[in-house]
Amino acid sequence: MNKPITTDTRNRSCLKCSQIFLSLGPANRICRICRRELDKLFRTYPEAILAKERGRKYHNGEVIE
Ligand SMILES: [Zn+2]
Repeated sequence: MNKPITTDTRNRSCLKCSQIFLSLGPANRICRICRRELDKLFRTYPEAILAKERGRKYHNGEVIE
């Protein structure tokens, strides 16, 4: 291990692209690259369009994979 463990930092797989990245905590599940893309999308599109871009469908508020 060459990284000092000061928080709950560990390698996790990104929820969006599934690549392993260094997560800063349990709530940090999206890699830096995807996070930046999502940030752009959230500022531009409503959630309904985001859902389509993620390839997921919502029915009665539940995600259908
Ligand atoms: Zn990612």
